[in-house]
Amino acid sequence: MASMNIRSGDTVEVIVGDVDSRGKRGKVIVVNPETHRVVVEGLNLVTKHRKPRSAQEQGGKFDQPRPIDVSNVALVCPKCGQTTRVNHVLGDNGKYLRSCHKCGAVIDSRAEKKQTRTAKGKTTTRKSKKSDSDEE
Ligand SMILES: [Zn+2]
Repeated sequence: MASMNIRSGDTVEVIVGDVDSRGKRGKVIVVNPETHRVVVEGLNLVTKHRKPRSAQEQGGKFDQPRPIDVSNVALVCPKCGQTTRVNHVLGDNGKYLRSCHKCGAVIDSRAEKKQTRTAKGKTTTRKSKKSDSDEE
Protein backbone atom coordinates (compact mmCIF):
# COMPACT_ATOMS: atom_id res chain seq x y z
CA MET A 1 0.00 0.00 0.00
CA ALA A 2 2.71 2.42 0.90
CA SER A 3 4.58 1.87 -2.31
CA MET A 4 3.60 4.30 -4.97
CA ASN A 5 5.11 4.38 -8.40
CA ILE A 6 5.32 8.13 -8.38
CA ARG A 7 7.74 10.06 -6.28
CA SER A 8 8.49 13.67 -5.74
CA GLY A 9 10.59 15.11 -8.51
CA ASP A 10 8.91 13.00 -11.17
CA THR A 11 7.18 14.53 -14.11
CA VAL A 12 3.62 13.35 -14.52
CA GLU A 13 0.84 13.91 -16.98
CA VAL A 14 -2.80 14.26 -16.10
CA ILE A 15 -4.72 11.47 -17.78
CA VAL A 16 -8.23 12.22 -16.62
CA GLY A 17 -10.24 15.29 -15.89
CA ASP A 18 -11.65 18.15 -17.83
CA VAL A 19 -10.26 19.55 -21.02
CA ASP A 20 -8.32 22.17 -19.18
CA SER A 21 -6.17 19.86 -17.17
CA ARG A 22 -5.98 16.69 -19.19
CA GLY A 23 -2.67 16.17 -20.92
CA LYS A 24 -0.91 18.74 -18.87
CA ARG A 25 2.38 17.90 -17.34
CA GLY A 26 4.10 19.03 -14.25
CA LYS A 27 6.63 18.14 -11.65
CA VAL A 28 5.53 16.31 -8.55
CA ILE A 29 6.36 18.35 -5.50
CA VAL A 30 4.55 16.44 -2.79
CA VAL A 31 3.65 12.77 -2.49
CA ASN A 32 1.29 11.52 0.14
CA PRO A 33 1.26 7.71 0.25
CA GLU A 34 -1.47 7.64 2.86
CA THR A 35 -4.03 9.49 0.83
CA HIS A 36 -2.59 8.33 -2.49
CA ARG A 37 -2.41 11.88 -3.64
CA VAL A 38 0.22 13.98 -5.24
CA VAL A 39 0.69 17.69 -5.59
CA VAL A 40 1.92 18.69 -9.00
CA GLU A 41 3.54 21.98 -9.68
CA GLY A 42 1.28 24.25 -11.67
CA LEU A 43 -1.51 21.70 -12.00
CA ASN A 44 -4.98 21.54 -10.55
CA LEU A 45 -4.65 25.07 -9.39
CA VAL A 46 -7.25 26.59 -7.24
CA THR A 47 -7.41 30.31 -7.08
CA LYS A 48 -7.82 31.47 -3.57
CA HIS A 49 -9.22 34.79 -2.73
CA ARG A 50 -7.95 36.03 0.47
CA LYS A 51 -8.89 38.90 2.58
CA PRO A 52 -6.25 40.51 4.68
CA ARG A 53 -6.91 39.60 8.25
CA SER A 54 -4.24 41.79 9.67
CA ALA A 55 -2.25 44.78 8.61
CA GLN A 56 0.74 42.65 7.61
CA GLU A 57 -1.24 40.18 5.57
CA GLN A 58 -1.83 40.91 1.94
CA GLY A 59 -5.12 40.16 0.38
CA GLY A 60 -5.74 39.17 -3.17
CA LYS A 61 -5.72 36.17 -5.42
CA PHE A 62 -3.13 33.50 -5.59
CA ASP A 63 -2.95 30.10 -7.22
CA GLN A 64 -2.29 27.05 -5.17
CA PRO A 65 -1.94 23.50 -6.48
CA ARG A 66 -4.37 21.05 -4.99
CA PRO A 67 -3.56 17.39 -4.46
CA ILE A 68 -4.59 15.03 -7.24
CA ASP A 69 -5.32 11.36 -6.80
CA VAL A 70 -2.31 9.42 -8.00
CA SER A 71 -4.51 7.31 -10.25
CA ASN A 72 -5.31 10.44 -12.25
CA VAL A 73 -1.77 10.98 -13.37
CA ALA A 74 0.73 8.93 -15.32
CA LEU A 75 4.45 8.98 -14.96
CA VAL A 76 6.34 10.62 -17.78
CA CYS A 77 9.57 8.87 -18.60
CA PRO A 78 12.50 11.29 -18.44
CA LYS A 79 14.22 9.41 -21.25
CA CYS A 80 11.59 8.89 -23.91
CA GLY A 81 9.12 11.52 -22.78
CA GLN A 82 6.12 9.25 -22.97
CA THR A 83 3.63 8.46 -20.30
CA THR A 84 4.40 5.00 -19.16
CA ARG A 85 3.70 2.24 -16.75
CA VAL A 86 6.41 1.48 -14.30
CA ASN A 87 8.37 -1.71 -14.34
CA HIS A 88 10.37 -2.82 -11.38
CA VAL A 89 13.79 -4.17 -12.07
CA LEU A 90 16.25 -5.55 -9.63
CA GLY A 91 19.25 -3.29 -9.28
CA ASP A 92 22.82 -4.19 -8.48
CA ASN A 93 22.38 -3.54 -4.80
CA GLY A 94 19.40 -5.84 -4.47
CA LYS A 95 16.91 -3.03 -4.44
CA TYR A 96 14.12 -2.71 -6.91
CA LEU A 97 14.34 0.22 -9.23
CA ARG A 98 11.68 1.76 -11.36
CA SER A 99 12.09 1.52 -15.07
CA CYS A 100 10.16 2.73 -18.08
CA HIS A 101 7.80 0.15 -19.53
CA LYS A 102 8.28 1.57 -22.99
CA CYS A 103 11.97 2.28 -23.41
CA GLY A 104 13.38 0.36 -20.49
CA ALA A 105 15.27 3.28 -19.01
CA VAL A 106 15.90 3.05 -15.32
CA ILE A 107 14.23 5.99 -13.70
CA ASP A 108 15.79 5.71 -10.29
CA SER A 109 19.44 5.95 -11.16
CA ARG A 110 19.85 9.04 -9.07
CA ALA A 111 18.49 7.40 -5.96
CA GLU A 112 20.72 4.43 -6.47
CA LYS A 113 23.86 6.50 -6.46
CA LYS A 114 23.03 7.79 -3.05
CA GLN A 115 22.72 4.26 -1.79
CA THR A 116 26.07 3.10 -3.03
CA ARG A 117 27.84 6.04 -1.47
CA THR A 118 26.90 4.95 2.01
CA ALA A 119 28.66 1.65 1.45
CA LYS A 120 31.95 3.19 2.44
CA GLY A 121 32.71 1.97 5.88
CA LYS A 122 33.46 3.86 9.00
CA THR A 123 35.09 0.81 10.43
CA THR A 124 38.58 1.71 9.33
CA THR A 125 40.98 0.87 12.08
CA ARG A 126 43.99 2.97 11.40
CA LYS A 127 47.34 2.85 12.99
CA SER A 128 49.03 6.12 13.55
CA LYS A 129 51.03 7.09 10.53
CA LYS A 130 54.06 8.25 12.35
CA SER A 131 55.26 4.85 13.35
CA ASP A 132 55.50 3.73 9.73
CA SER A 133 57.12 6.68 8.10
CA ASP A 134 60.86 6.57 8.06
CA GLU A 135 62.20 9.98 8.45
CA GLU A 136 65.85 10.86 8.38
ZN1 LIG B 1 10.92 5.65 -21.49
